[in-house]
Amino acid sequence: MPALIDPFQRRIDYLRVSVTDRCDLRCTYCLPKGFKGFEEPAHWLTHDEMTRLVGLFVSLGVSKVRLTGGEPLLRRGITTLASKLSALPRLKDLSLSSNGTQLARHASDLRAAGVHRLNISLDSLDASCFARITGRDCLGDVLDGLRAAKEAGFDPIKLNMVVQADVNVDEVERMVAFALQQGFVLRLIEPMPVGDTGRATQGVNLTQLGESLAERHGLIPQVLGQGAGPARYWRAPHGSMSLGVITPMSQHFCASCNRVRLGVDGTLYLCLGQNDRVELGRLMRAGASDADLIDAIQAGIAAKPERHEFNERPERVVRFMSQTGG
Ligand code: SAM
Repeated sequence: MPALIDPFQRRIDYLRVSVTDRCDLRCTYCLPKGFKGFEEPAHWLTHDEMTRLVGLFVSLGVSKVRLTGGEPLLRRGITTLASKLSALPRLKDLSLSSNGTQLARHASDLRAAGVHRLNISLDSLDASCFARITGRDCLGDVLDGLRAAKEAGFDPIKLNMVVQADVNVDEVERMVAFALQQGFVLRLIEPMPVGDTGRATQGVNLTQLGESLAERHGLIPQVLGQGAGPARYWRAPHGSMSLGVITPMSQHFCASCNRVRLGVDGTLYLCLGQNDRVELGRLMRAGASDADLIDAIQAGIAAKPERHEFNERPERVVRFMSQTGG
C-alpha cells in the first residue's frame, strides 16, 4: 500500500481541501472586513479537477478528506462534489467544516452525499457577542443548522470555538454546558497568528483551561488512537459529550502532524504555519499527467516543514486562514 511519509517519519493520510476562499462571515481573527484579495473564479479548480487531485492523494494513501474554506457551503454544487469524492474507493472518511449559516438547508443532502462528520464553528451562544465576532447577526441560523445536522443523523458533531481573551473566554462554561446537554464534541482552539487578523487576536492558554474545565465538570481523559488529530480530549462519564483543546500556541503538536492542505486554486500547502507550497493546480492546467502530479506531491511531502513557528516568528504567514482552509 503506497504511503506519503515525510522526512520526520510522519505519515500524511489526511487532506483538507478548500473548495472556496469566500465566506459569508468576517470573523475578527480570520478574514478582514472589506477584504478584496479573493482568488479569481478562473483559477478555482472545477469539481472534476478537485476530484482528480484528491483521487491522486487517495492513491498515495490519504484516507481522510475534509472539505473546508472559506465557507464550503457557498461553493455551488457542494453536495455533488461531496458525492464524487465519497465515491473514491479508498477514501474512508469524508468530513466538512462549516460556519453553519447555510447548514439547515444542506444537512440532509450532505449526509446523503456521503459526508460522515461535521465540524461547526461556534464562538458564542450570546447573539450580540456572536455578531461582534463574526460581523453578522445570525446565531439563530447556526443553531437551526445544528438542529438540522442532528436530525440528519450526523454523529459526532464537533463544535469549534476559538477562545479569545476579553471577548468570549467567559462564555466557555456556557458552551461546555450546551455541549453536555446536546451531546456535542466541543473543541476549544487557541487563535493562531495567521494573517494580520490572527496576529491581532489575543488568545488564552487552553492547556491550563482545558484541565480545569475537565476537573470542574467531572470529565475523564480520553485516550485516542494514532492519527486521531491534534486535540487533547476529555469525555463525559455518561452521554456522548467530549471536550478537546487545540493548543498550537501553548503546546504545539507538530510531531504528530498527519495533514496537508489544498487551496481552491490547487496550491498544496505543506504546513499551516509556513509558506512552503506546491502549485499543483497550475501544473495540472499546464497539462501534467497523473504521474507528473504524483511526483510533485511526493516532492512536496519530502519538503514538509518540521513544525510551525507561531511563537518564534508570528509574522511569517501573511495569508489569511480562509485562504488555506483552517
Ligand atoms: N468556514 C468554515 C468554518 O467555519 O469551519 C471553514 C473554514 S474556517 C477558516 C475553519 C476554522 O478555522 C474555523 O473553526 C475558524 O474559527 C478557524 N480559524 C480561522 N482563523 C483562525 C485563526 N487565526 N486561529 C485559529 N483558528 C482560526
